[in-house]
Amino acid sequence: MFERFRPLFRLVRRIRVPWLLLALACVLTLIDVGIGLWIPLLTRDLIESATGGTVPRGIVISLVAALLIEAGFSAASLYLMARAGEGLTADLRGTVVRHLLRLPMTTHDDRQSGELVSRSMSDTQSVQSLLTEQLISFAAGMVSILGAVAILWFLDWRLTLVLFSAALGAVLLVLPVAARLQIVGRDTQDRLAAFSGRLTSALADIRLVKASCAEGEESRRAEQSIEELRRLGIREARIMAVLGPTVTVGMSGALVVILGYGGARVAAGALTVGTLVAFILYLFQVVLPMIQFTAFVAALNKAAGAAEHLGELLDQDPEDTVATGLDPSAMAHADLEFDAISHRYGTAEVLHDVRLRVPAGRVTALVGPSGGGKTSLLSLVERLYSPSDGTIRLDGVPIGEFALQPWRRRIGYVSQEAPLLAGTVRENVCFGLEPPPDDERLMAALRAARADEFVERLEQGLETDVGERGVKLSGGQRQRLAIARAFLVDPDLLMLDEATANLDAESEAAIRAALADLLRDRTALIVAHRLASVRHADQIAVVEDGTITGTGQHEELLATHATYRRLVAHQDLGVATDDPSASTL
Ligand code: ADP
Ligand code: MG
Repeated sequence: MFERFRPLFRLVRRIRVPWLLLALACVLTLIDVGIGLWIPLLTRDLIESATGGTVPRGIVISLVAALLIEAGFSAASLYLMARAGEGLTADLRGTVVRHLLRLPMTTHDDRQSGELVSRSMSDTQSVQSLLTEQLISFAAGMVSILGAVAILWFLDWRLTLVLFSAALGAVLLVLPVAARLQIVGRDTQDRLAAFSGRLTSALADIRLVKASCAEGEESRRAEQSIEELRRLGIREARIMAVLGPTVTVGMSGALVVILGYGGARVAAGALTVGTLVAFILYLFQVVLPMIQFTAFVAALNKAAGAAEHLGELLDQDPEDTVATGLDPSAMAHADLEFDAISHRYGTAEVLHDVRLRVPAGRVTALVGPSGGGKTSLLSLVERLYSPSDGTIRLDGVPIGEFALQPWRRRIGYVSQEAPLLAGTVRENVCFGLEPPPDDERLMAALRAARADEFVERLEQGLETDVGERGVKLSGGQRQRLAIARAFLVDPDLLMLDEATANLDAESEAAIRAALADLLRDRTALIVAHRLASVRHADQIAVVEDGTITGTGQHEELLATHATYRRLVAHQDLGVATDDPSASTL
């Protein structure tokens, strides 16, 4: 039983719950309930004196005052609860977001981001609703029931027994209906999360959807979810439609029972009319909290499920982004060495026993058929993943021992897709740079990357919005911005993943010159499709099927390596026309 709620307890310990505010709200609510319990007694006195012919001013004033004060306390406690709730939600959301961003790549690879977002938001909502509103109204309901029953017991224990049984009967009638409502509610939330996950990814890749003419398929898939949500909504409406009248019937039944039995006792002279009226008022203070309990149980279950989801996320170790570890300042002058590296994503091995020395200040090129594992090698250096086996060393020190963020700051990584975030050109080029470069440096970098011309032609220049993931720019333009950023980073180690693949011949020639500047005196690890661009590298490694089948310079490989020769032949690279003026890239 308690096993289910353990994630909830653990979650509560993880976040800052505004206990003080909640305690205050709780106290106000209890006072509110206490006054509420007093009102029927005042009503009884009023009726009794009224039937005696006089209406004492004291009672009337007390009654009015009690009603007003009750309303005041109620308002104050509702406000405090909402305040505590907002604080709690903000804290929980902040915790989740900070954690999400720091989770390792392996986790993000397995998750649909849309679903993750929708889940995190609705799950935090569920936890918040339980910890604030539901928990307090549960406590208040408990006090209300116990208080009412205790008072009633003193007034007339027999009628109390009858009232309690009648109230219980009413609740038992309502309970099964309310329980079904809870199941439907949970289904709805699951569906909604799946739906928004799917739709988010479809919209994020809307070009792919259109190009594949898959609008129909995606709509159908969405319509299925929509239809299911509609059906769940209708089921909920049906239950709600039954629930209301059921509550009415239950209450009326209980009322009839009490009036019948109580009326008989009044007629027999064993009970006053005032007491009977008080009983009827208390009936509400017993039944309503009991029905409220079903909402509490529902909220408890929902929050337990939500806490489990959130706990699953929060339990996963984040990357070690704190600056603990060695200072990687030696990177500029140290060799990087892959020592027997093997790597698996999940189960499939994509790298196997890779051994390679990347000498400092030189250019090492990785070439080979696609899917061979070149990008994976760069990801391992960037420490997006840890190798399953083997060690990458910098100057003999395993790279895992260097502090993560300082490590990444020293690497300029122009990745294969050169993705951008939504935002302006300036925001993207300066993304993550501390301190942000001034305009002069920024323009110099854009010029060096041959990006200045097209940026100036953009309608709003540096402040032009690039669209989601940079879709408003061409692939080549995005790559040039990524290269401009690499200039600003001024990295010790430069990694280019087919950085010139999306460029036309003219821009490519221009960028090669720029990159040659950038590469000077830096350690570089570059992946290139076009062998022409790497034939002058200091070292070329052929990556095939997850392993390195040969290293050497262009001429050596050409003479000894069959695959390399084939790659060269396919690209129709004039083998004999070695142009000494060509740059490395
Ligand atoms: P290359 O850059 O040489 O084309 P990659 O390193 O991108 O090769 O991919 C090598 C292999 O690893 C491929 O078979 C690919 O399917 C797999 N792979 C790459 N990234 C992931 C990932 N994040 N999760 C699972 N498999 C991956
Ligand atoms: Mg690749």
